[in-house]
Amino acid sequence: MNRKYRNEQRPRSGLLRGREFVMKDAYSFDIDSESALKSFELMNEVYYKIFKDFKLDFIKANADSGSIGGDLSYEWHFAGESGEDTLFVCDNTKECGTAANVEKLHPLRENGQAKVADEASARYMLSTEGDLVAVYYPKGRSLNLKFIESEDLVDLDPKWTDKPAAKVLDKFQTKTEDGTEMQFKNVVRLMDKQVQPGTKLPDFPIDFSRSRMTTFENLDLVEAQEGDSCPSCNGMGHLKLKKGIEVGHTFYLGTKYSEPLNASYIDRLGKRKFYEMGCYGIGVSRLVGAIADLTRDKLGLRWPAKIAPLQLTVITATDPKPEVTKLIERLQEQRDMLFEVDTSTLGMGGKLMKSKKLGIPLQMIIGENNFPLVEIELRGQRFPAENGEYEYLKKFEEKKDEWKWSIVEERGTEKHLVHIDFADQVVPLLLKDM
Ligand SMILES: [Zn+2]
Repeated sequence: MNRKYRNEQRPRSGLLRGREFVMKDAYSFDIDSESALKSFELMNEVYYKIFKDFKLDFIKANADSGSIGGDLSYEWHFAGESGEDTLFVCDNTKECGTAANVEKLHPLRENGQAKVADEASARYMLSTEGDLVAVYYPKGRSLNLKFIESEDLVDLDPKWTDKPAAKVLDKFQTKTEDGTEMQFKNVVRLMDKQVQPGTKLPDFPIDFSRSRMTTFENLDLVEAQEGDSCPSCNGMGHLKLKKGIEVGHTFYLGTKYSEPLNASYIDRLGKRKFYEMGCYGIGVSRLVGAIADLTRDKLGLRWPAKIAPLQLTVITATDPKPEVTKLIERLQEQRDMLFEVDTSTLGMGGKLMKSKKLGIPLQMIIGENNFPLVEIELRGQRFPAENGEYEYLKKFEEKKDEWKWSIVEERGTEKHLVHIDFADQVVPLLLKDM
């Protein structure tokens, strides 16, 4: 776990996007790609379990590995409307379930053939050499510059990728003082795969000899759209858009870093080989921000039990009885559960409200009226296990008489009444589903 710093241009949303953040990172080093892929998959299984524990809807998406590179990577996102990333999820959840970053997915080619667009749009850019790059793509679709770059056919000049056509063409046609430069410049035409003979092209806007144009065809230049056939299951499913908040990333790096850094070993045959690497990160502070944002309600925070700073607040009447001291001792023995006994000067109502606003999943109220029954209120959300069942219910059926355990609902809040001698056993049962 590390503090990291990034020269973030637009710090915002508190912990979600800051210049300083806490990150959990890990690296794997293996002797060959087979074992490196095993490490990668093992780590992905661990990440799956970690994200499952937060009980929130998450998406493991095929990612564009961007500046870190490598052959294979996954982005781990919480699904939520406030997310900044756009993901596609295939609606054929049983057989496919593909999830991918919009920057990783190309529209489907059916039987190797792309659909033919009726009409193409053109966008003009300049290369670093000053050549004119004319990009043709189906009208109404979104061009993605990263796709152009990954085709590796031209080096786009970033200053000239989003200027109006007239300015680009003007710049392209500007002659040097002796008037010679134009003849050394070229025109490169890039055609999306859906732009085919039969597609209506816009007129070429300047006078330029066709013989000096270079054309590349059948390229993947546009983004998929919601409702498109899914390319992963060959059109059995359709793509749905989801917003995601990225909180983790796993990369298979291969020798991308070990080679330039000469991280190597000598194998059994005496040959020098580079380590095969993986790297894995969870943005811990970002994760906290994202979960807070996704789970909060009108009253305040509402943490899942696994990430709550405390799982329980104990609120007692002014005159604690010996049974209470014993209960607190038994709670202290539960090593994986953190709780507080609120000893502030607030009244019982004030203590209850404070704990709820902080998002602590459970409040235990030990008052005078019902004693020896104590009341456990649920602030946290409850989620069923994968089989759709709730853990505590089985135990409830078994023990309700012995433990004097009953469940009531008051103004939308679920409350459990239980004999003080068994209250410490009910707490972990309730937390399991929260
Ligand atoms: Zn699919």
